[in-house]
Amino acid sequence: MVTPQWEEATCPLCGIPPQMTRLDRVRDWSQRSAARYTYKACRNCGLVLLSPRPAASAIEHYYPADYPPHLRQGESSAKRRFVRALLERLVDARFPRPTVSVVTLGRRPRILDIGCGSGGYLKRRASQGWEVWGVESDPDAANLAQQEVGVPAIHVGTLDAAAPCLPRNYFDLVALHDVLEHLHNPLAALRLAHDLVTLDGLVEVLTPDVDSLESRAFRSNWFSVEAPRHIQLFSKATLQVTFGRAGLRVVAMRPTSIPTFALVSLENVLSERLHRRVCFDRLTRAGVFAALAPLTLSTAMLSGSGSSLWVWGTKASGTC
Ligand SMILES: [Zn+2]
Repeated sequence: MVTPQWEEATCPLCGIPPQMTRLDRVRDWSQRSAARYTYKACRNCGLVLLSPRPAASAIEHYYPADYPPHLRQGESSAKRRFVRALLERLVDARFPRPTVSVVTLGRRPRILDIGCGSGGYLKRRASQGWEVWGVESDPDAANLAQQEVGVPAIHVGTLDAAAPCLPRNYFDLVALHDVLEHLHNPLAALRLAHDLVTLDGLVEVLTPDVDSLESRAFRSNWFSVEAPRHIQLFSKATLQVTFGRAGLRVVAMRPTSIPTFALVSLENVLSERLHRRVCFDRLTRAGVFAALAPLTLSTAMLSGSGSSLWVWGTKASGTC
């Protein structure tokens, strides 16, 4: 087996190496290897970067075969769907989310999902009448997405390879859900999203918030660090800078809180303390979940800080 190639990180916004250690001795819990990773902050803009990191050409070695976003997503139970919908409604009331005005378009709305995984999000949009396009680099996940929404809708390969095939100024919504943190050049991806979205369209990003209370509470054991697949970790401030550098104006941000993430972070903390992998049994899991759900939700509602951030941007004036 070829040894994966490693490199020191350079801040994609400032062009300088990050120097201030932010998270140390981070484990890759999914691979269960002995490797430890370090994340450092750029002293200029504050972006938190994995350094050293696998080179772009070697990163695929660090995605396990059973990486969840690449698998077919099972149907949630009715109870879980109800709880999730209720939580979303509550957060919606506090942090309204912008939407594409489908009624005024006079045609089918169009979405591009960059890093569409197994196609669950596109399937939902297709069922609402949207014209759906997707890009997915993992061949197995792309195959599942093609089964969900049709072969022509999904480009299999990297974003760089797909870019020439994607129409400019065409999409009403360009989604990058849990994607930006995986990319060696997130700024290039957002600049491409800027070129692909219509003048009135939205670029929609979901990404972990490294400045969140959860991140600060769990530190190196925070579930969303996900070393070494997360090449960088954003905050509200660094997302504002990154969107601006891509010619996008941030129109809304909102926290999202997923109690399961906090639960797994807690398992990671105990595993580190006890020097063995701790996985709660089903009953304990249900109890911890019931305790964490109101805590994480109320934290998100009151402080605007959850495990991840939703961010929406539009083309800044004069940048079409
Ligand atoms: Zn920087």
